[in-house]
Amino acid sequence: MTKRRQFLAALVAKAGAENVLTDPGDCLPYGLDNSGMQGLPVAVVFATSAAQVSHIVHLCRDHQIAIVPRGRGSGTSGGAVVLGDAIVLSSERMNRILEINRADRYCRVEPGVLNGDLQSALARHGFFWPPDPSSADYCTVGGNLAYNSAGPRAVKYGTPRENTLGLSVVIGNGNILECGVRTTKGVVGYDLTRLFVGSEGTLGFITAATLRITPLAKEKRSLRALYTSIEAATQAVTRIMGQPDTPCALEFMDATCVRLLREANPDLLPARTRAILIIDLDGSPAAVDAATDRVARYAKHEDLLRLNTARNQAESQQLWSARKALSPRLREIAPGKLNEDVVVPVSRLPDLIHGLDALAQRHALCIANFGHAGNGNIHVNLLYDPADASQSAAATRCLDDVLKLVLSLGGTLSGEHGVGTQKRDFIHRELGTDVLAAMRDIKYCLDPDNIMNPGKMLPENPA
Ligand SMILES: Cc1cc2nc3c(=O)[nH]c(=O)nc-3n(C[C@H](O)[C@H](O)[C@H](O)COP(=O)(O)OP(=O)(O)OC[C@H]3O[C@@H](n4cnc5c(N)ncnc54)[C@H](O)[C@@H]3O)c2cc1C
Repeated sequence: MTKRRQFLAALVAKAGAENVLTDPGDCLPYGLDNSGMQGLPVAVVFATSAAQVSHIVHLCRDHQIAIVPRGRGSGTSGGAVVLGDAIVLSSERMNRILEINRADRYCRVEPGVLNGDLQSALARHGFFWPPDPSSADYCTVGGNLAYNSAGPRAVKYGTPRENTLGLSVVIGNGNILECGVRTTKGVVGYDLTRLFVGSEGTLGFITAATLRITPLAKEKRSLRALYTSIEAATQAVTRIMGQPDTPCALEFMDATCVRLLREANPDLLPARTRAILIIDLDGSPAAVDAATDRVARYAKHEDLLRLNTARNQAESQQLWSARKALSPRLREIAPGKLNEDVVVPVSRLPDLIHGLDALAQRHALCIANFGHAGNGNIHVNLLYDPADASQSAAATRCLDDVLKLVLSLGGTLSGEHGVGTQKRDFIHRELGTDVLAAMRDIKYCLDPDNIMNPGKMLPENPA
């Protein structure tokens, strides 16, 4: 028997034949994610318990086969893509909500629970889990934790890092770690929970999570401000974030986004619109009324074209319609798109948007900017035609300048999409040699044979 066959036979014995795929045709769909990259796993294993995962990790260590943890493959930076000889360890079948405990303000879930399913279950109890990526209906809590994924609500309620109390993780040496707490306070030991959140499957496979839950607000109100200048919108963001009524969403779209939307639907927005803010506020009805008035005052500017307030759910959906139409529109018009999700301090947003406009002109590229302005998190979309060699080269050069700009403004290279393979070779610019060396040491302690998602997040060559 060849070594590969021995490995597969042992895998079936440890995981159960019903939990293993080996036919290349069955395995292929598990080798890719939304980055567009594709690999072919040696096998796909469906995780069923921490003990089973531990056996698989030991086996993979013995055979020096890598493990790629996988939720639903909706990630955009290549974290779940198979590189080289690797099995995919899928959380698809570990999808139970184990407990919802309102009094203690937590729920316990397996990693394969879809974010949207968890929100529906919690809503029946009057609660929610704050992380709200727009892919909620088809991404898993495990993927959310591994990428620290979030959405508009992060501005008020935080990301998975602020909303995870504890984890069960099978680390790269095969040990099962139970870290964190089931209380809303706790200080004993190093905060391994926070270390695992955002570690992109490079340290271990999450088999369960204790998540902090929050009561749903009684009232929600949406405002939409249309401006005739970008400066007016970005200055309004800094004013709104500088006062005490924190919005539960503060979204921004620039002039290019407005133009592209109007080209598809001229009636969607007035012709003079150059920038849009969408602001959601939540709380008790009386508090929301007062906060809406105050925030509306901070949104004012001589370049404010129109300020709409939604009084009900239907009107709110109407105000959000331009924002929701944007991602499909960008996919429609651009054959090639480099989609960065950079973050700068909110006070530097005007400088970021101004700098991005200058880069678009210098590289003769169309750049569409939108995103979670309340966190300073902007999705910078470099639109180009990959069939045109000069445009592709311009996009690569422009990306380099975008990242330099972000770091020069005190920002960070990714707010929610993660590093994966796509940003791996850039992170040394942000972290520096000493921090990268410390990260390698931690990785070595927990995963001595480098079998957990190798080639992701950490650059191959420290230099
Ligand atoms: C249309 C669309 C909209 C999106 N909108 C948003 C958004 O608003 N905000 C946002 O942040 N992201 C967004 N994303 C990106 C993506 O949905 C998120 O990153 C999501 O958290 C990935 O979840 P997943 O289950 O698909 O994970 P995968 O893509 O399968 O995996 C993501 C990473 O997590 C690791 N991983 C998965 N499960 C485990 C586990 N159990 N243990 C350890 N590591 C694990 C993988 O190895 C990989 O590194 C969007 C994607 C799409 C396609």
